[in-house]
Amino acid sequence: MRKPVIAGNWKMYKTIEETVAFVEKIRPVADDAGHCEVIVAPPFTALAAAAAAARGSAIKVAAQNCHWDKEGAHTGDISTGMLRDAGCTHVIIGHSERRHDCGETDEQVNRKVKAALAAGLTPIVCVGEMLAEREKGETEKVLEGQFRLGLAGLTPADFSRIIIAYEPVWAIGTGRTATPEMAAEAHRFLRGLARLEFGESEAEGIRILYGGSVKPDNIGALMAQEEIDGALVGGASLKVDSFTALVNYPRP
Ligand code: PEP
Repeated sequence: MRKPVIAGNWKMYKTIEETVAFVEKIRPVADDAGHCEVIVAPPFTALAAAAAAARGSAIKVAAQNCHWDKEGAHTGDISTGMLRDAGCTHVIIGHSERRHDCGETDEQVNRKVKAALAAGLTPIVCVGEMLAEREKGETEKVLEGQFRLGLAGLTPADFSRIIIAYEPVWAIGTGRTATPEMAAEAHRFLRGLARLEFGESEAEGIRILYGGSVKPDNIGALMAQEEIDGALVGGASLKVDSFTALVNYPRP
């Protein structure tokens, strides 16, 4: 019922030339992958080139961040309208690297989500606990705070247009993956919050991706969990072979 999503977050990797070469190689892979949606998130400088190279294919292009204002004196920032102009359909919001490197808050995440929705973009909203929080038994408290503040004021119709990514911070770029059961438990918790906050059908429809050291050799077990609706992948999305294997994850 929920179409899975395989999304590659390229972070601060790839020039325009490298981006175009990659997108051209994965066009047939994405076009053949009727079982899932395929998204790539290049750096800002390569977004327009990625969108041009992806035109007419099943590949969707996401930005890795946005500002909430339409325009203004915000040196170094990019608006949601500019992302649309560059050909983006999606935008990653609240990635833990932005929360930790740039001090991004849940309130800012919320403003960005609303701005993205208003511009017709699909926000991929990231939530996830740090290792110390998990060890103190605070995972659910952290996820609930990020969910409630980050998505505050959304209507059920708004909520049905977003994607959530559960990314435990201790699993990102560390090679340490949450077990499929741990990930599924967090997803179940998030879906329960969605049910309380937005309603039954919205909770059933929301896609919750897992992110954190997903690789071709562990994606099958993760995707076998009913609660896991796809993956947001960093490192393993950078190489064509590996990204192809992720898109074509083992299916029953
Ligand atoms: C990410 O960047 O969202 C991520 C999950 O990275 P990695 O797959 O490298 O852990």
